[in-house]
Amino acid sequence: MNCWQISSSQGVHLLGKRRWPQTRDNLFWRRVIQDEGEQNCVMCGSEAETAVHLFVYCDFAVQMRKGMIMIWNAVIWTLWLHRNKIVFENGIGDVEGLVAEVKISSSKWWIERTQATPCLFYEWNQEPLICIGSM
Ligand SMILES: [Zn+2]
Repeated sequence: MNCWQISSSQGVHLLGKRRWPQTRDNLFWRRVIQDEGEQNCVMCGSEAETAVHLFVYCDFAVQMRKGMIMIWNAVIWTLWLHRNKIVFENGIGDVEGLVAEVKISSSKWWIERTQATPCLFYEWNQEPLICIGSM
């Protein structure tokens, strides 16, 4: 399973498994981590790893959100184009075709936006979040 296949109910389940993330600051507070210096974020290493830092302010979280927003924009744009194809060209609804178009357009937008190709389309097609996270 990759991110293109996760349904919303699975996403909720994944988030619902733990009540509070076991971030480094939480582990330090619970004395699982003894050294104060080990509280830093494992992603960026620049600040204490609080839940707020990890999910909101960490550079990795910011990059991931930008990537997800770009993919969401590709979904909306592709839906609009598909809708117009149905209305003006007697097209038919095709969810698999829509997903394929979203993958292609989001890949193109990502390459254009980053001015680099850290991932091949094959990799983007399998797991775009890894590509987004590798920037
Ligand atoms: Zn961080």
